[in-house]
Amino acid sequence: MTGIMLLCPVCGGALAREEHAFVCPSGHTYDIAASGYCNLLRPGRQRNKTSGDDRDMVRARSEFLGSGYYSPVLNFVTETVGTLIDGAPAVMIDAGCGEGFYTNGTAVRCPSLSVLGIDVSKHAVDAAAKGARREGVSSRVMYVTASSASMPVPDGSADIVLSIFSPCAYGEFARVLKDGGHVLICSAGASHLREMKEILYGREGVRPNIPIDHASAAAEFGLVPVMKKTVSFRIAVEGQAHIKALFSMTPYRWRTPREGARALALRDELDTTAEFDITLLQKQSIPAL
Ligand SMILES: [Zn+2]
Repeated sequence: MTGIMLLCPVCGGALAREEHAFVCPSGHTYDIAASGYCNLLRPGRQRNKTSGDDRDMVRARSEFLGSGYYSPVLNFVTETVGTLIDGAPAVMIDAGCGEGFYTNGTAVRCPSLSVLGIDVSKHAVDAAAKGARREGVSSRVMYVTASSASMPVPDGSADIVLSIFSPCAYGEFARVLKDGGHVLICSAGASHLREMKEILYGREGVRPNIPIDHASAAAEFGLVPVMKKTVSFRIAVEGQAHIKALFSMTPYRWRTPREGARALALRDELDTTAEFDITLLQKQSIPAL
């Protein structure tokens, strides 16, 4: 892995890579899993059994995303990153990378990019690391388990932070970015999955999503908006397995009435709107005095 230094989650020392582990100068050691990811969650901060993504959900989501329903988003992300780096060597951190669909996809299409994928779910980063091998980018893509609100990297490490459908720790994003670096955020648009929500809650029960105003939220951290765009398209989801996977990727799985969930479970296909708000922010460089 080139281009990015990892820090010990216990003492903050720089980690050196050995064959099967990362080791800091004080001797704290972090094994590298067979798939290639490394667990850098602070001891005592391991995810508990009910948080994060379990193995079945990771598998379902990988299969859904691998079927290409969200390819327009991947295309938009890779084109934007490609334009920003313009073929030059650059470091990207995917904060909340999940099973690595966008992480690996961007690495494949931007060959000058070194990438660090961070997620709290070890099942997710395990799947992501396997995906990187499959797609032939594992020499440029490293995965670690860590919180994206407390990333194990020095200040000013990254040219780009990617945050796709993941909570945004704007202050932490600003810390890890170089001056002039960019944050690319993708979150649910107002009409995202409107037709699926109509099945779950009934037509009268559906209100538009309230999009997150990332530009306002990030302003106090010196991140200024340079682009905002909504990407909207239709997806025809085929088969109950994919419908269930999509449902499991949404917050609705926590708060759907039983009848609504049952109505969705009877569907063999689902034609719905997918709508993504994409926000590009830039870290202002502080002028020298
Ligand atoms: Zn240490």
